[in-house]
Amino acid sequence: MKPIQLFDPASSTYTYILFDKLTRDAVIIDPVDTQMERDQAVLSDFGLTLRWALETHAHADHLTSVGQLVEHDGAMSAAPAGCGIATAAVQLQNGDVLAFGHEQLTALHTPGHTAGSMCYLWRDHIMTGDTLLIDGCGRTDFQSGSAEALYDSLTEVLFALPPDTTVWPGHDYQGRHYSTIGREKAANPRVAGKTLEEFVATMNALNLPTPARLAEVLPLNQTSGLRHDADAVTLMQVRPSEGYAGDVSPQLAYQWFLSGEAVLVDVRSDAEREWVGFVPGAVPLAWKQWPGMAINPEFDEALKTAVPEGKKVVLLCRSGVRSIAAAKRATEALGLQAYNILEGFEGDPNGQAQRNLQGGWRFRGLPWRQK
Ligand code: FE
Repeated sequence: MKPIQLFDPASSTYTYILFDKLTRDAVIIDPVDTQMERDQAVLSDFGLTLRWALETHAHADHLTSVGQLVEHDGAMSAAPAGCGIATAAVQLQNGDVLAFGHEQLTALHTPGHTAGSMCYLWRDHIMTGDTLLIDGCGRTDFQSGSAEALYDSLTEVLFALPPDTTVWPGHDYQGRHYSTIGREKAANPRVAGKTLEEFVATMNALNLPTPARLAEVLPLNQTSGLRHDADAVTLMQVRPSEGYAGDVSPQLAYQWFLSGEAVLVDVRSDAEREWVGFVPGAVPLAWKQWPGMAINPEFDEALKTAVPEGKKVVLLCRSGVRSIAAAKRATEALGLQAYNILEGFEGDPNGQAQRNLQGGWRFRGLPWRQK
């Protein structure tokens, strides 16, 4: 048995449909919005009932149809827990198994292309998303990517599978359809026989352009591609507030940051950035500093320098409290168009005092790094 492989020429994306021959229960992986009618026709031609609509990660190059397939076909949505796709009904952890009829697939966490990325193993087939491509691999230079993590995912997770496992990639730009683990392990020019250092050097030297649709599609893919969803709409709207220009979601702030509409300023202390993590490209400018959390006397001057005329400024702190104070200051003292990023970097703590589990920049799957 093989997966049904479908292709979207506009984004060179492969979509896969797997099914149980007896019960006709099916799974779709990485469906593309503009191909939904085709996908539904394939399902009906084969007499299949769609049980699961899955993503390998939050895509930056095309819009998903998972949300619509859930609405129209009654499928359940599932996505890797680390991808910030809050609308997915099931948030997959490494090793989770999804059943469809008598068949099952296993989710393998393979961070690298994005921090949350997963591959799906079904029988002796692996759907690799953008983690492993034929003679290549996904880029690691944005969206919480990490070349180091990808090297481990490739060499320790995927190449540990039996060599005759068939590899079904998330994209191919040269008309190739599938490969095997054995072949990629032996001959993939990016990683075969390479040390971690060589691999990281190759990945860091790629210098790829930013995907044309990144700012548009990424926030929508984090709501399963639902344009009309009320949450998705309010997510991308400014909420006006007293004393500064307004509150924005981390997703909207990221979109403005990517498009160059706003400067992103991280107002947490240097210590927090060092220990907890930071957003690449954000201006580090503490509002208060350890020890004692005294107001940073250089704040006004440095903010003025960081934000060019006519640009907005979006302010990020741990949970969206200090950034309100900083946004008010930026408005009053400097006359800037200043916005507070709701939820901050880590979100509010849950009942067990753990952060990053209910909101925030990291939870939403937006890019960040640790030193
Ligand atoms: Fe991707």
